[in-house]
Amino acid sequence: MTRYGYYCEDCNKSIYPTTTRAELAWLKDRAHVAREVARHSSGGLDHWMAEALAFLDEHDGHSVISIEKQ
Ligand SMILES: [Zn+2]
Repeated sequence: MTRYGYYCEDCNKSIYPTTTRAELAWLKDRAHVAREVARHSSGGLDHWMAEALAFLDEHDGHSVISIEKQ
């Protein structure tokens, strides 16, 4: 099964949240929106989204690309 994730070219780190490529692409383009939703949502985020957002926050301003592995 193909897994999709993010890779930071600056830090040589990657992450593979349990979700689809489409969801990861959506989140990468709209991380600022997702953070706002998280702030106003009492239920919290899905685990994969919290995980992915934490990665994007940690590597803010770095060269983060979408990757896949078999
Ligand atoms: Zn980084």
